[in-house]
Amino acid sequence: RKPSQYLEQLFEHIERINPELNAITSLQKEYALLRAKELEAKKPEAHQMLYGVPIVIKENIQKVDFPVECASKMLKGYRGQFNATVIESLENAGAIIIGSANMDEFAMGSANEHSSHGVVRNPHDPKRVSGGSSGGSSVACAAGFAPITLGSDTGGSVREPAAFCGIYGFKPTYGRVSRYGLVAFGSSLDQISPFARSVEDLDLVLKVIAHEDPLDSTSLRGCYESQIEKYTLKGKKIGVIRSLLKAGLDDNVLQEFQSLEENLKKYGVEFVDIEIPSLEHTLSVYYVIACAEASSNLSRYDGIRFGHRAEGTEDLNDLYSKSRSEGFGAEVKRRIMLGTFALSAGYYDAFYGRALAVRDMMAKEFASVFEKLDFIYMPTAPTSAFKFGENSHDPLKEYLYDVFTIPANLTGIPAISVPTKVGMGCLPVGVQFMAAKGRDAELIAFASALE
Ligand code: GLN
Repeated sequence: RKPSQYLEQLFEHIERINPELNAITSLQKEYALLRAKELEAKKPEAHQMLYGVPIVIKENIQKVDFPVECASKMLKGYRGQFNATVIESLENAGAIIIGSANMDEFAMGSANEHSSHGVVRNPHDPKRVSGGSSGGSSVACAAGFAPITLGSDTGGSVREPAAFCGIYGFKPTYGRVSRYGLVAFGSSLDQISPFARSVEDLDLVLKVIAHEDPLDSTSLRGCYESQIEKYTLKGKKIGVIRSLLKAGLDDNVLQEFQSLEENLKKYGVEFVDIEIPSLEHTLSVYYVIACAEASSNLSRYDGIRFGHRAEGTEDLNDLYSKSRSEGFGAEVKRRIMLGTFALSAGYYDAFYGRALAVRDMMAKEFASVFEKLDFIYMPTAPTSAFKFGENSHDPLKEYLYDVFTIPANLTGIPAISVPTKVGMGCLPVGVQFMAAKGRDAELIAFASALE
């Protein structure tokens, strides 16, 4: 079928199912069909690896004329002013961006319950959350709205919703995919990251988006080179931190975790017990650093340069404070206040400085483990998708959902969430594998061997 015919059918499917799930916030039908026709008018070129492939992007990635609202009242009506590097790469490869996806406001959250567009529902059980903050992108992929979707992962926002929705989510090494055009939350942690329903699709999109970019000063040299074809499991060594599996893990998750481990042993994979002592500080370190960076990044929304402007204000200060009070939601305000406090004179060393020191230590501990092992194995999240409202009244409870995903962001290493339990009538479970910095291709190849 021609891309335009395929799209017409796809749009019918989306328009039937999306109203209940609320995953896509803006479906760009006209634009996408036009682009499909353009592609049809030319022959596919050799480098067009994603010729005609529909893709959905999270609402915090810049694409000209697409809404980039970050699910915030603050950015209501804001449209993309330029194309993010990932968009340029995808379109050069022939992909068609068909719309943008719901998310937690400014990517802060683990359940997609903090969005100006309303919650996103899990396709496996609409009474349950999709996971967050890239819940819309995750559901768009799981529900078949697009084979590949993009989210952003600052502390687990792609891997956790992937686990909740029964699909793959991959956070590349920090700097492997350009952040140019991604609305900043925690710049030293943020990474644009893909969702897919198969590892082959992840591999394909990484070939397109994972490369050096002069527009992002933290971009890594070189590019992603697939190793999917020549990979064997036999002899691989994987570390497991048993102490992490004790508290707070659902039986469901533990069972899936252990049964995959047993299975892999049959294929000649060796499991080794390891310890990474600094992991006990994961959440405190992350919430100091992420909030500090967020408070600084979000200072640009002042109602003048960017964002919602309050009416009837008395002076400049009043304009700032009213605009920000009206524009930001509760979770975002909480983070800005925490971050501003952590960075304030007299507290900087005690909080931010110390968090950076522990982060450093954690990176060293991981690096030394990877000198002897290929991968580290962990659950992605402590439970399957929970019901709406179960955790949203207590921020600390929600923060606990990231305890297994955050270490990869703090240390910059690649990590993938692999779905283990997907089927009619059961809630999906995800498990996670991590590799040393820069070993993205090896990790993807390993995951493909599990399929
Ligand atoms: N849930 C985490 C947070 O709220 C991670 C968010 C993310 O990865 N964008 O900060």
